[in-house]
Amino acid sequence: MHIIPAESIAGIRVVPLCDAIGPMHGSIRRPLPETFPGSTPQQWERIRAEHPEAFEPDGEWVLHFHCFVLDIPHGPTVLVDTGVGDRHSPAASWAPVPGRLVEALSSAGLSPADIDVVVLTHLHSDHASGAVADGAPVFPNARHVVQRRELEWIAANPESPVGGQTVRPLREAGCLDPLDGPSPLAGKVELVPTPGHTPGHQSVVIDDHRLVVAGDVVLHPIHLLDPSVRYAHDEDPEAAAATRAALLERVRDRGGLLAAPHLPAPFVRP
Ligand SMILES: [Zn+2]
Repeated sequence: MHIIPAESIAGIRVVPLCDAIGPMHGSIRRPLPETFPGSTPQQWERIRAEHPEAFEPDGEWVLHFHCFVLDIPHGPTVLVDTGVGDRHSPAASWAPVPGRLVEALSSAGLSPADIDVVVLTHLHSDHASGAVADGAPVFPNARHVVQRRELEWIAANPESPVGGQTVRPLREAGCLDPLDGPSPLAGKVELVPTPGHTPGHQSVVIDDHRLVVAGDVVLHPIHLLDPSVRYAHDEDPEAAAATRAALLERVRDRGGLLAAPHLPAPFVRP
C-alpha cells in the first residue's frame, strides 16, 4: 500500500487515500484531445513533460482515484468521496475496479465504522460507488451528505446505475442527508456548491480556501495550465470552466492547496 503524506491546515489533518489507479476503458475512453476539447498540441507536450505519471506508455490518460479523510479536532471524522467500489459497482463498466479504499483506510488506522460523515462531491460512479457494497452502506455509522440538486439530477437520469445501486440503499438505510447550497460542516470546514461537472457538484473548503478538496472541478493537470480547457464528461462544460477558473483563482489568492481526486499528486499548489 502506497502511503502518501497528509497535509495539516488550521489544525485539520487531510489524509489522502489511494482507491485506484488506471486508464478508462470501454466506450467513454477517447483520445485526449477529444476528452479535453480546446486543448492544444503545445499544451499536451508541456503537460507530458511535467506530469509523465498522468500518462500511459501509449500516451493516454492514467487516472488516479483519490479519496480524502478529514481529521477535525473535536469534530467528526469525515470521508470525502468513496471511490470506484467493488467488482459489481456502477463504475465497473469503465473504471479500474475493485477499489482499495477500505484497505487504504486501514493503513491510515481507521475502519469504516470510524467514519462519521461521508461527503459525496457528486454522484458519478467513481465517487459514490464505494459507499455501498452488497446493497448495504459500507460506512455504517456515517451520515452521507450530498446536494439536493445532485439527487434531483440523478433521479432524472434513470439510465445511471448510481441511482438504484448507490442512492437508493443509502436512502433506505436512512443515512442520506440532502443539502441545499453552502453548508457548514464543522469548524473551519464548509461544503460549497461548485456546479458544472454535474449540476449539484460540491467541494470541501477548509479555512477559506487554504485547502480545497475539489472533487472533479479539476480533472487533469492540463486544467492547472488552462482552466478554460473543456472536459467531454462535464454535464455543463461552460459552467464547469467558469467554476474551475474561479476556484483556482481563490485558492491561489489564499496561497492554498488543491486536492483533486484524479491528479497524480493528491495535493497541488496551483
Ligand atoms: Zn471522477
